[in-house]
Amino acid sequence: MISFDFQYFKPSSVADTINMYNEIRKQGEQALIISGGTEFITFARKNKIYADAIIDSKGIPECNVLEKQGDDVVIGAAVSLNKIANSNLFPLLGTTVKQIADHTSRNKITIGGNINSELIYKESILPLLLVDAKVKMAKETDERVVSLHSVFNKKMNTSPGEILLQIIIDSSYLALPYISLKRTKFSKVGYPVVSVAAILRESQLRVAFSGVCDFPFRSDEIETILNDSAISVVDRIDKVMESLPSKIVDDLQGSKEYRAFVLKNVLLDVMEEMEMGE
Ligand SMILES: Cc1cc2nc3c(=O)[nH]c(=O)nc-3n(C[C@H](O)[C@H](O)[C@H](O)COP(=O)(O)OP(=O)(O)OC[C@H]3O[C@@H](n4cnc5c(N)ncnc54)[C@H](O)[C@@H]3O)c2cc1C
Repeated sequence: MISFDFQYFKPSSVADTINMYNEIRKQGEQALIISGGTEFITFARKNKIYADAIIDSKGIPECNVLEKQGDDVVIGAAVSLNKIANSNLFPLLGTTVKQIADHTSRNKITIGGNINSELIYKESILPLLLVDAKVKMAKETDERVVSLHSVFNKKMNTSPGEILLQIIIDSSYLALPYISLKRTKFSKVGYPVVSVAAILRESQLRVAFSGVCDFPFRSDEIETILNDSAISVVDRIDKVMESLPSKIVDDLQGSKEYRAFVLKNVLLDVMEEMEMGE
């Protein structure tokens, strides 16, 4: 049960959403923009979040786009993980999001909600980091398309009331060899102990990680090490373990030692699958 009352709005345009958000805030009340709403409900039940009003972005047409537009694939922030996987427009993203939660939850969980999640995993960001995706953001009367790298550093660095409208992916990345591997503690459904996505572009491996540190990341330093064919794969992986951007997560899902062990094995699988040497 949710212990507080809140109003629910579903505006049908970006301008109405922003006006509504500003109006609620002007009255001294708290507003939250949601997409699938699953995280809001879960956190509200546990009293980890409060809002006087929630504004559902699913009524905004731009947020529901899922199609090829010229040389790009465009994915609205309110598109569910199942729709993305079923569309097969971006196979690596489809494979990665299919590993998030259970099938029923994936009908509700959206890519915008997953990327903006308060949780540390945000697994759908991994393929997007690898393909240098762009994002369309809206704030007040301004809409801008920027590189995902410029707004995502450990988490989305957006200001209150700023909305993620769309994700834009250059189609030239879509046919590249890829792999997405997720390891959980018990069953197939669960938060990742380690989740890794990788692509091979112009013989260079690109890799992104979730579950290892308390934020998802892609690291130039790690990619340079993994692409260094002068040293053995095992030595490269040992060097990677010393070059992680932060300490390894140590919690009930997995101790830091266990996560390190799993990460090494997952990286071995990635290197073998992508034929990155001996
Ligand atoms: C059963 C279950 C299993 C899960 N397993 C995993 C897992 O294995 N890996 C993983 O990565 N995640 C997992 N999750 C977490 C899930 O992906 C996130 O909680 C996600 O936020 C839910 O998406 P949503 O669309 O329902 O989010 P919402 O509740 O709508 O929103 C979540 C957050 O994003 C913000 N937000 C939403 N849309 C926008 C937007 N357009 N612009 C700006 N901000 C926005 C909201 O304000 C809120 O802070 C799991 C969740 C469940 C319920």
